[in-house]
Amino acid sequence: MINSIILQLCSLAYMILLFFVFFYKERVRSVETSLYKATMISNTCALVLDILSVWTISHMKEIPIVNMIVTKLYLVSILVWMFSLTIYICINSIKDNYNEKKGLLLKRYIYSCLLVLAFCVIIIFILPLHYVNEKNIIYSYGPATDFIYMASSIFILVWIIRIIFRFKYIKKKKCVPIFSYIFLGAISALVQNNHPEMLIVSSVQTFVTFIIYFTIENPDLKLIRELNLAKEQAEKANNAKTEFLSNMSHEIRTPLNAIVGFSQSLIEDDGIPENVKEEVKDIVTASNNLLEIVNGILDISKIEANKLEIINTNYNLRTILDEVVVLTKTRIGNKPIELRTSFDETIPGVLYGDHIRIKQIILNLITNSVKYTKEGFINFKVSSIKKDNVCRIIISVEDTGIGIKADKIDKLFTKFERLGVEKNTTVEGTGLGLAITKRLVELMNGKIVVQSKYGEGSKFTVALDQEIVSEKQIEVKEDKKIENKVKDFTGKKILVVDDNQLNLKVASLVLKKYGVTIDTANSGFECIDKINDGNYYDLVLLDDMMPKMSGVETLNRLKEDENYKIPTIALTANAISGMKEKYLNDGFDDYLSKPIEKNELDRVINKFL
Ligand code: ADP
Repeated sequence: MINSIILQLCSLAYMILLFFVFFYKERVRSVETSLYKATMISNTCALVLDILSVWTISHMKEIPIVNMIVTKLYLVSILVWMFSLTIYICINSIKDNYNEKKGLLLKRYIYSCLLVLAFCVIIIFILPLHYVNEKNIIYSYGPATDFIYMASSIFILVWIIRIIFRFKYIKKKKCVPIFSYIFLGAISALVQNNHPEMLIVSSVQTFVTFIIYFTIENPDLKLIRELNLAKEQAEKANNAKTEFLSNMSHEIRTPLNAIVGFSQSLIEDDGIPENVKEEVKDIVTASNNLLEIVNGILDISKIEANKLEIINTNYNLRTILDEVVVLTKTRIGNKPIELRTSFDETIPGVLYGDHIRIKQIILNLITNSVKYTKEGFINFKVSSIKKDNVCRIIISVEDTGIGIKADKIDKLFTKFERLGVEKNTTVEGTGLGLAITKRLVELMNGKIVVQSKYGEGSKFTVALDQEIVSEKQIEVKEDKKIENKVKDFTGKKILVVDDNQLNLKVASLVLKKYGVTIDTANSGFECIDKINDGNYYDLVLLDDMMPKMSGVETLNRLKEDENYKIPTIALTANAISGMKEKYLNDGFDDYLSKPIEKNELDRVINKFL
């Protein structure tokens, strides 16, 4: 007897193994996976019942009813296997864009299949089944088995028709198990016809169930596919977000440019009463705050999209520290805060690193100290430790401000997280500064540490390793004083190129105080025409983001003429950090961001006129 069931026993061992592998692993929850589970379970039942039926047939005289139920249930499990596979093929051949209808169609398939299945089960139990049990040859035959053959042939026909008519939509890989079954099923039918004692149907089913596992239903493959899809979608969404933010930054900057530009000219207008001037100054302050928020959002989105690059160049740290001190003194204003500074004299003259980001980090920390300190002092200390050609810069900013509660310290670097908002509602902020600072420090492989005592003050320490280029101290040029003086440039001519009329008006207004003659152009094409027509200019302010021809393209076309020597300044609302370097690389002589900052404009005008 064992001889006749050896194939089933082996198949059963494999099925149990497959069961373990399949159920042990984490699976994707989908209709396909559930259908595959149904094929596995029905096939295992078929194998067990097939093995059992060999025993019941050999004892049918003692247990005729049990024998009848076991053999007929075996036929039913084969049918269930075929049904599961049929639904599996049907759902896989539904058009992808039918997604919303897929659920409805699936329900329809399942209900109609269940109805047909119930009808078939009744027929199987009505139709008679005969048994052979002689000389170790055990099998069943008769109308019930013939019915199964007939039903299987109809199923296969349904599969083939479905595949042919929906060939465009069905994934070809999904056809592999189907054709294997048709091929092996035909062979097994032929074999069984000539040797009915060879029970190979359920083993063929096992084989096909295995093929399905390894080709399409492997949970690992499915999970990886799902994860890739999720990753792709997340990346798409993130890119869309970054693009949206960069567009938003541009869109917000354009009207801000007009607000700041017109307000600035009102402040400088002698005919305006002092009290009105104070209010206009508030407009400028509020606009600058808004600008800072836009920049912060843009920076964090760039960091999250991994698009923020650290651009290393040679720089002098002392210059940066001096600039920060000047800015901090203005920020402190009339507040009773003493700014104490202590900079290590041995810091090398030229270091290699991203000075723009280092300045941003220091400014973020020191601005917070000014914001969250009512009175007392801010201790701004920079020291260095040298080893070989690397210099570790240790920047510490200590204040006597409101301090941070111990249980809130770990939330400090979370974006949009503002601590004790109920207390500092009067202090403006977005909760982005420290999140950006921490990521920047990490991008530079540095470390940031916080020590704070609630009510007493805080100390932020940053350590960054920078390459030493030269130990020699550099003389910091005192060109700031010259820059800030507004000279008269009567007789000089400037061309301003911008597609936005309001921006042209603002630029003309802010340039008026230099006494220069201003000409305007609405597009890159008009700019090229004006210059080619022989008009001479001492300076060109060229907006980058213009329709049809960008500023960069316009400059490239102008530079095709070797005689083009007019200093050209990039004027753009796309003012994310690092943009200056980009525009200088593109061939511009300098860069001005919108809204145009008074000091920056003075610097550029003094430099080029
Ligand atoms: P913002 O200052 O825009 O709110 P930050 O990310 O720079 O955002 O800071 C997050 C929070 O950390 C602040 O809201 C504040 O509660 C707290 N914080 C930061 N720096 C200090 C400081 N020097 N003293 C006290 N609290 C601080």
